[in-house]
Amino acid sequence: MNYDYLIVGAGFAGSVCARQLAESGKNVLIIDKRPHIGGNAYDAHDEAGLLTHPYGPHIFHTNSKRVFEYLSRFTDWRFYEHRVLAQVGDKQVPIPINRVTLNKIYGLDLNEAEAAGFLEKVREPRDVLKTSEDVVLNSVGSDLCDKFFRGYTLKQWGLDLSQLSAGVAARIPTRTNDDDRYFTDTLQFMPANGYTKMFERMLDHPGIAVRVGVDLQEIRDTEEFAHLVYTGPIDAFYGHCFGKLPYRSLSFEHQHFPDTPEFQPVGTVNFPNDYAYTRTTEFKHLTGQKHTGTSIVREYPQAEGDPYYPIPRPENEALFKRYQALAEKEQKVTFVGRLAQYRYYNMDQVVAAALSCMESIHAGP
Ligand code: FAD
Ligand code: UDP
Repeated sequence: MNYDYLIVGAGFAGSVCARQLAESGKNVLIIDKRPHIGGNAYDAHDEAGLLTHPYGPHIFHTNSKRVFEYLSRFTDWRFYEHRVLAQVGDKQVPIPINRVTLNKIYGLDLNEAEAAGFLEKVREPRDVLKTSEDVVLNSVGSDLCDKFFRGYTLKQWGLDLSQLSAGVAARIPTRTNDDDRYFTDTLQFMPANGYTKMFERMLDHPGIAVRVGVDLQEIRDTEEFAHLVYTGPIDAFYGHCFGKLPYRSLSFEHQHFPDTPEFQPVGTVNFPNDYAYTRTTEFKHLTGQKHTGTSIVREYPQAEGDPYYPIPRPENEALFKRYQALAEKEQKVTFVGRLAQYRYYNMDQVVAAALSCMESIHAGP
């Protein structure tokens, strides 16, 4: 068949583009090599009937009213503020580090002003925050860095904090009050019926054809299309001609406990040290689902496997720029999304990127 657009990847980037194009009258085919839509945000019920996230926990949060209103066309929401505890020695304490964390770790009874004074004493000020190590030492100093950040980061990325750009650790703030929410965005909600249902509604349009379990390679020769929107890894698109762009992968260990109503007190427990996995997430906290049992996932970082995280560090950015230079020359291919733009984007940032990308396509010649 003849399509105006072929979209490769049915995650947030591809699905938002498909919807925008279809609503402007275009005829769109969206494909994904996985057997489902939703990309990494895909969710599904496990054998016990619990809604889980096969590719790791996805919590929606944004400060963008525009993104929230856009997605609200395809889903209702459930209010949910994510909370995380870190297992440090035999204690579980709030992360991001806050007043309660400091008091529990050091056996203190600091008030807010004293907590600020404590951090002022232990922090190791840096003039320039270039690496993630600079960020952490500058805010909490070396003891808290070793307890909460250095081991976790080594596990998650296979790199020391000093080898990663500042933006990675800068995702985690430091607080002196008792706020124990993982995110402080103004809008924090989960899609009421899950992400997959939201994607189904987004792609439910007469101008959109969906095919899953199909790779770009297979479709290229069989379908005609005037323009391509590509949301997969940019280096793969160019046959890794400049070498492989590093992405970090994970393996997920899902487990169901039929007779355990609650596995852990909060959505996620982080394990900065001592375990091969970085965190455990219990889905019932995220979804609010009632069930006599519970389901969790453990995340084990690894080098090989599906590309989940671009790895933010200067040499990778330099390699990405070479691929980006090729991409910019393309007249009939658009690159958007976490893998195609090699950006450590959250879901809302991908939606925003896809919306602006589609605006520029419409504004173009
Ligand atoms: P993807 O979701 O990766 O979609 C790209 C799709 O393209 C994939 O489905 C892939 O199969 C397909 N594809 C690639 N190549 C081809 C090809 N050649 N042919 C056909 N199909 C192809 N963000 C948050 O905001 N909050 C969170 O709590 C959160 N938690 C996360 C936890 C984990 C473990 C991970 C890995 C990410 C998390 N994210 C979170 C980030 C979030 O997953 C991404 O921002 C978002 O899903 C990216 O959407 P995307 O469409 O760019 O990419
Ligand atoms: N991080 C850490 N300890 C923690 C939580 C985070 O060292 O308890 C660091 C680590 O490098 C991690 C980064 O901060 O990769 C970003 O954490 P976030 O929870 O945002 O990671 P994501 O949810 O994207 O995997």
